[in-house]
This record gives sequence, C-alpha cells and structure tokens, in this order.
Amino acid sequence: MKKDLSDVDVAWLRGRTVVVRADFNVPIESGRITNDQRIRASLPTLEALAQAGARVIVLSHLGRPKGKVDPAQSLAPVALRLAALLERPVSFIPHSGGVEAAEPIARLPDGVVALLENTRFMAGETTNDAGLAAAWAALGDLFVNDAFGTAHRAHASTAGLAKAMVERGNEAVAGMLMSRELRFLEEVLRNPERPFIAIIGGAKVSSKIGVISALLPRVDRLLIGGAMANTFFRALGLDTGSSLVEEDSVGIAGDLLEQGGETLVLPIDCVVAAEMSRDAEVRVVARTDVTGDDKILDIGPQTRTRFTDMIRRSRSIVWNGPMGVFEIDAFAEGTMQVAHAVAVACDGGALGVLGGGDSAAAAERAGVVDRLTHVSTGGGASLQLLAGAPLPGVDALTNHGTRS
Ligand code: ADP
Ligand code: MG
Repeated sequence: MKKDLSDVDVAWLRGRTVVVRADFNVPIESGRITNDQRIRASLPTLEALAQAGARVIVLSHLGRPKGKVDPAQSLAPVALRLAALLERPVSFIPHSGGVEAAEPIARLPDGVVALLENTRFMAGETTNDAGLAAAWAALGDLFVNDAFGTAHRAHASTAGLAKAMVERGNEAVAGMLMSRELRFLEEVLRNPERPFIAIIGGAKVSSKIGVISALLPRVDRLLIGGAMANTFFRALGLDTGSSLVEEDSVGIAGDLLEQGGETLVLPIDCVVAAEMSRDAEVRVVARTDVTGDDKILDIGPQTRTRFTDMIRRSRSIVWNGPMGVFEIDAFAEGTMQVAHAVAVACDGGALGVLGGGDSAAAAERAGVVDRLTHVSTGGGASLQLLAGAPLPGVDALTNHGTRS
C-alpha cells in the first residue's frame, strides 16, 4: 500500500512547499480548452493543499512537444482555467524548471498555487533524466503525484521525481485523484462481487491484449465489441468485408478464443455500411453475412439485447472501449445501450468502472457519467493496472509503514 495525502499531517503542511504532478493534458484548439475534465479532477488535491497553507508548485505535461519549447503547447491557458475553477489566484511561471523557475517560486507566499510551464519542454522529461528529476525534487518538501493518466510512464516528473524526493529524505505520496483511481480499479480486481463482467471494445485488439488475457481468467463473462471484434471474427474464419481488421493480431485473437471458451462472448450480428459517414445506407446483418464493401460499424440489435441482459445481471463491471463508431449517430446505438445497461446495474448497487478516453466521451454522450461508480481519467494507465502490470508512477511512491 502506498501513502496518500490523508497520511500527511495537515498542520505540518503550513508553510511547506509541495510539488504536485497533475495531469493537465487537456484538448486545446486554437488556444481554447475544449474539455476541462482533467483540470476539474485535480481540484480536490490542490484545494486541500492550498487550504492547509502549503505553497503548491504544480507540474504537468501537455501534448508531445518532444523536449523543445513550443508556444502552441503552453500551459498558460490551463493556468487561467485552473484559477477560475479553484477560485484562487494561480501564478503561472513560464519556465518548466531551472533558475528562471526557482526565483519566482522562492517569492511565493503561503497558500498560493503556482503552475510551471509544460514539463515536456525539458529534454530529460520523457527519458526520466535523474538530474532533471532531482532539480524538481529540490523545489519542495513533499511530492504529491496526482497524475494517474501518466502513471504508466516512468518520466522525470513522475517516477523520477518521486524517487529523487525520497532520496532527499522526504516523502512521495499519491494525491486524492490518484488514490481514488487506485482504490476502485484495485477493488474490482481484488475481490469482485459476482457475476463479474468485462466489456472490451474500441479500435484495436493490439492495445488491449494484455487486459483481455489478464481479465479472462478472473471474469464470468468478457464481452467483445467495437472494431476489435472484427479481428476475432477473422480468427473464426468469417468474412469481414471491408471492416477494420488488425491482420497481425488474428493469431492472438484465435488463442484468446481458445483460452476463453464460453467466457469470451462475441457479437452475433452487426450494423454495416459501405462508408463510415453520417448519411451512409445502413444494414443489419448476421456476423456470417458480412461481405464485399460492408464495414462493420456497430454491434447489431440481437447482440445489444444479449450484452445488456448480461450487464444488468452483473455485480462488478469493467468497461473499456466503445462498441462501435459512436461518434456518428447511425453507429452509436450499441454503445449507448451498453452505457445505459452499466448505469442501470450501478443504480442497483453494482460496482461499475469505466476506463478509456473515448469510452468516457461515450458515457458523457449517453448522459450516464454520474450514475457510474467510477470513470477513470487514465486510459493507458487503467489498462495497464487492469492487465496486472506495474505502474512506475505509483511504484515509486512511499510505502505505508515507512517513517513519516
Ligand atoms: P478508448 O479510448 O475508450 O480506450 P479506443 O481508443 O480503443 O477506446 O477506441 C475508440 C475508437 O474506436 C472510437 O473512435 C470508435 O469510433 C472506434 N471504433 C469502435 N468500433 C469501431 C468499428 N467497428 N470500426 C471502426 N472504428 C471503431
Ligand atoms: Mg482512445
């Protein structure tokens, strides 16, 4: 078990400098933030620290600037939004580190939040440079990692900074968002109430093989939808017409089918169209009747009934990946019905955890976000955790039972 913010003495925080790694990797279009969910998710930790009178230095990456300053990927708009949401002044420091950042930090009053510029403007960030990590660690008395979305990467501002902070004799703890993410995802894996069902969809089998094979022996049912079902259809020897198929993964899909037996449930019918477009002519066909120009773009009505019946009867649910191209109305129904079924199960007391950026957008579109037990803010990180693989950003934090 890792220490989190609740293990830190509130009185101790007054006047201390706390370095927080947040995940402010939000979509920005021509300078405007189009979705501030990730900023909102970080507020409880930042508010608690500021309230306690700490000086709060926040680090985050944004986009992939590849170690160079790129004004288009500046965190400046995030600082403005953060100040508005926190209802506190946020001091934006237009440097990612170094002496230019250290000097304004030294002048910060207690209880103030400061945001440094994009960590990925620094060359050593994604290579987990020990010197860079040590320089960030030297800014504060405590490190709080609240960036669940990047916990699966060992970068200088995540795993490296935690390690460096501990080496200085200080602690590195999980923030409130991070501990909430870990609590729900670990709970559903540790001792799930049964029936336990997993729903896996989305574009690629290859990105989710680890999760499928780790979950298969644990769950009562594993439902496959989305484009990845096509790769499984091919492993069954079915014609998939012009659908998206990952040729390289057909062999693995076959292995998973064999390993899964009755547990692995594939769609039986599909919505097909010749074009992935709004005004395409749409047909419903059995999975054995897909051919020629057909692109499979959603699960069919019989599959929806089967899937939603199983979901509604479940007590533990892990959902990752949409059932079809839900961004287009004509192919959204499968995903919408699955979203509603998961919400109904949660209304009845089931534990329902959703991961994946596109899946979260689908749940929002279905209007069910507030009814789900937990919507994870981390796509890759939640997949890695569900696959049973270590998260470097978490592993580097201080263990319980270590001195305080
Ligand atoms: P998440 O972000 O939730 O992990 P993925 O990124 O794996 O999900 O996949 C989401 C994408 O998969 C969506 O953009 C959706 O349009 C696409 N998709 C789902 N089903 C199909 C399909 N049958 N054909 C093509 N694309 C699909
Ligand atoms: Mg995605």
